[in-house]
Amino acid sequence: MWKQIIAIVVGLYLHNNSVFAKENRNLHYITNQAPLVAQPYTALPLGAIKPKGMLLKMLELQRDGLTGHLDSIYNVVCGDNNGWLGGTGDGWERGPYWIDGLVPLAYILDDAGLKAKAQKWIEWSIKNQREDGYFGPHPLPEGFKKIPGTQQDMREDWWPKMVMLKVLQQYYTATKDERIIKLMTNYFRYQLKTLPEKKLGFITFWAEQRGGDNLAIVYWLYNITGDKSLLELAEIIHKQTFDWTEIYSGNVLRRLNPLPQLHCVNVAQGLKEPIIFYQQHPDPKYLDAVKKGLSALKDCHGFVNGMYGGDEHLHGNDPTQGSELCSAVEMMYCFESILPVTGDVYYADYLEKIAYNVLPTQSTDNYMRKQYFQQANQVLVTDERHNFFDNESHRLIFGTTSGYPCCLTNMHQGWPKFVQNLWYATADNGIAALVYGPSEVTAKVAGGEEVMITEKTDYPFKENIQFTFHGKSELKFPFHLRIPEWCKNPAISINGKTVEAHAVNNIVIINRAWSSGDVVELNLAMDFRYSHWYENSVGIERGPLVYALRVEEEWSEITREGYDDTFWEVLPKSPWNYSLQKKEREKNLLKAEVKDQIDTNPWNLKNVPIIVKMKANRLPIWQLERGSAGKLPSPGWPNSTVEKQEEEITLIPYGCTTLRISQFPEN
Ligand SMILES: [Zn+2]
Repeated sequence: MWKQIIAIVVGLYLHNNSVFAKENRNLHYITNQAPLVAQPYTALPLGAIKPKGMLLKMLELQRDGLTGHLDSIYNVVCGDNNGWLGGTGDGWERGPYWIDGLVPLAYILDDAGLKAKAQKWIEWSIKNQREDGYFGPHPLPEGFKKIPGTQQDMREDWWPKMVMLKVLQQYYTATKDERIIKLMTNYFRYQLKTLPEKKLGFITFWAEQRGGDNLAIVYWLYNITGDKSLLELAEIIHKQTFDWTEIYSGNVLRRLNPLPQLHCVNVAQGLKEPIIFYQQHPDPKYLDAVKKGLSALKDCHGFVNGMYGGDEHLHGNDPTQGSELCSAVEMMYCFESILPVTGDVYYADYLEKIAYNVLPTQSTDNYMRKQYFQQANQVLVTDERHNFFDNESHRLIFGTTSGYPCCLTNMHQGWPKFVQNLWYATADNGIAALVYGPSEVTAKVAGGEEVMITEKTDYPFKENIQFTFHGKSELKFPFHLRIPEWCKNPAISINGKTVEAHAVNNIVIINRAWSSGDVVELNLAMDFRYSHWYENSVGIERGPLVYALRVEEEWSEITREGYDDTFWEVLPKSPWNYSLQKKEREKNLLKAEVKDQIDTNPWNLKNVPIIVKMKANRLPIWQLERGSAGKLPSPGWPNSTVEKQEEEITLIPYGCTTLRISQFPEN
């Protein structure tokens, strides 16, 4: 009964701008309007994508953990006295940060309680917008009594408003509340009038470095209202924003270590700016800048997990330097912003790398504590000083306000926005699965008919992904699938029949008439890959996952004076100082043993879904230094220093580890 001839239509979405040239624009969702470049992919409204399995579990843990309870856990900032609720407390970024993760969590889970918590903040912003268009906390009178641990001043800073604009944008896609369009229109008129005098950087450098977030919402509103003055405002914002295009394209990132002028989170967050601006000025230099920047970060500060040494400022690639939780979630959000504009699967691969390796390890299993910094080689998590640029003792422990409270409030956007970016509408009015995870999507395709597709998978642990279509019969629309750059042998079948699929720029487009019950199976063969890092250390990856040494962990909850909450330290209960055997490793004989049943929370030692055994030797000279694994031996180190006796070690997915070696010396 199914059409036997399967047309696999070739897509040409990268660099050659064929879609842009054809001016294809999605008809059903908010997408770029001329003169902005046509975008190959378009975000779906909040609520269209529902997580299943492991991803649903991650959101439920957030609901039951910090995200659902930050107003009581971190009451001094996120409680009713916050400036964004009309109070005299904190009036800066932290309240909006929390709501930026709470809104997508609330609407994706369709949870009335969480929606009500977020609504208070949204209502206050709407109802207290000034006549001149300014919104957000109103300035406090001179000499106002300071509340310790809050940032009451800096209320007129442009930066926290950028976060609240993201909140309002997401809320609008879920609710179509027209008051948001009015608020933004008035606020952007205020910006247009005020920015020439009070520039982005007039209060803090944060606003100047993070202007890309402001710019993205200006274009988004333009795509709804068509108000040309927004394009004028966009030019001003870009001009006043720190020149990330120049920073990423030039050699600055390669020049100094540490690089005191560049803050780690800003470097992550700035990645979107050149490509956001590209939409108005489609010069390839903006696309190139981001790739060059990521390449410089990898070469000079990079770790196998996809992050970079940035423990406040950029700090080189020793795998015991820290990477901040805010950097991880902001980098993810950049890739989620860049992917629909470029259709470049490089960013989808990178997004999965951070989400499926870095993100799960930086909070506790119950989502009640988090780490400010994590290390790629992390063998001890204790309350002591490390070799970080910002070196208070509590940078590595699992706490709440420990480290610096930005992450405690900013971490919430990670999983919900990741879920929100699994699927996109396409310029040719089809649907695209660009990022993989267990989920279900409902979206308008073709002439506006609704289709529902379920994605059943144990990805990122297993290779098979099964898509089942539900909707009107014989509905013709294109279905786009990403082939990750690491996958050399993908296979696709439709209703059990293998099809010859040609990926162009790693996108396969299947254009046919679909009917309820149609099944597409995608198999992404995962092979082992090896890469070299700091001091020629070796990293091991397979598919979307990085592998790390399994180290047995002893967790202790600590109560200490001067800390807002209890925190957790983690000590190693098994050896970590192993050296791999180069000759053995080069034979590439590693085998992944994958469990049949994968737990919905696989990100811990108890539920590890995959193990890999390999031979290694202890390296006794490699010991703890300043609370971290000591410096890796330099290439050419004498083989005689390893112990003769060979041992079998177990590697597991990085995301399941708290203590780990992910960059190994090799003899
Ligand atoms: Zn942070």
